[in-house]
Amino acid sequence: MIPYGRQEITQADIDAVVEVLRSDFLTQGPMVPRFEQAVVQHVNAKYAVAVNSATSALHIACLALGLGPGDWLWTSPITFVASANCGLYCGARVDFVDIDSRTYNLCSKALERKLQQAEREGRLPKILVPVHLCGQPCDMAAIHKLSQRYGFKIIEDASHAIGGKYHGEFIGNGHYSDITIFSFHPVKIITTGEGGMALTNNAELANRMALLRSHGITREPSQMTHASDGPWYYQQIDLGFNYRMTELQAALGVSQMNRLDQYVAQRHVLARRYDGLLANLPVITPWQLPDSYSGLHLYVIRLQPDKNGKSHKQVFESLREQGIGVNLHYIPVHTQPYYLKMGFKSGDFPEAERYYAEAISLPMYSGLSEVQQDQVVAALSKAVAA
Ligand SMILES: *Cc1c(COP(=O)(O)O)cnc(C)c1O
Repeated sequence: MIPYGRQEITQADIDAVVEVLRSDFLTQGPMVPRFEQAVVQHVNAKYAVAVNSATSALHIACLALGLGPGDWLWTSPITFVASANCGLYCGARVDFVDIDSRTYNLCSKALERKLQQAEREGRLPKILVPVHLCGQPCDMAAIHKLSQRYGFKIIEDASHAIGGKYHGEFIGNGHYSDITIFSFHPVKIITTGEGGMALTNNAELANRMALLRSHGITREPSQMTHASDGPWYYQQIDLGFNYRMTELQAALGVSQMNRLDQYVAQRHVLARRYDGLLANLPVITPWQLPDSYSGLHLYVIRLQPDKNGKSHKQVFESLREQGIGVNLHYIPVHTQPYYLKMGFKSGDFPEAERYYAEAISLPMYSGLSEVQQDQVVAALSKAVAA
């Protein structure tokens, strides 16, 4: 089976992890700060907090921004459930903004309309989580402008987008948001096994997230309520978690960061090749937002139901039977049973639901060979043939 995504692990990665295994620290040593610095310097942000997953990063980002009961968090229905669940963890309520039909990202026009209505009804969101689906940046300039008019905070879910650029600058630099999140799950662009990171240019937010990562405990005298009792002393000043990343993970991350730009460039070569090979098939290939450079975590095609003899499910099943590990990103979150129980219904976000009925993620990862890519295209040609 050719998977839709997979990690690449080199000898340098293995050596870096083994070196940590032989060192004094498996956790809370020098590698986590080194990994944070590597990412911060690459994307040109000020502060980073590495954690054990992007889900944890989303959670502490919401808490650091003060999300709580009575508040609303809005995100895209076409995302992994974690982008929405982080709001529920904080006791807030969640709502969605329908997607743009070309980028499949949260639509800034739909956002504006929904904000106007929410203002009239007195239920404006506290936090918006735009998700850079497939690595393609959202329309951040427009979203940022709306945040200033309506007073909400922005957490970019850039789980798909490390190494991508918006208006010539790396995603994660925080020009249009309060916090940006990256994921290092093995199917993403670089990996630490499991892992995530929250980036910000705000020192206070960075400090709060660092506290929340580790039980809300500080050893920093300036953060304590009174003078230290002695060299053993620490204080718990907030209710945090154990969301720490291990030293082994961070060492792998530092090593993978050396190849980030190369990985994204390889994904672009593959995407251009797919664009050409698929040009004569009855499918819609990805559209690129002008003045942006996608991280290209995913290459999503859409079937054109009126031009295909086969249904979406038939094409999908045929590809799987032919050994192509296609996937579907994502099932609209509001149609998940847990969300239906909150009152969401099928039909609430029609553009997202139409996308779900047509989308297929083709294999896309830096180690995918041209031969394998040709196999994918041949299998797809066969699958869509009536
Ligand atoms: C993968 C992913 C997450 C969660 O990442 P983890 O590191 O697995 O917790 C969140 N949002 C999006 C859009 C993702 O793709």
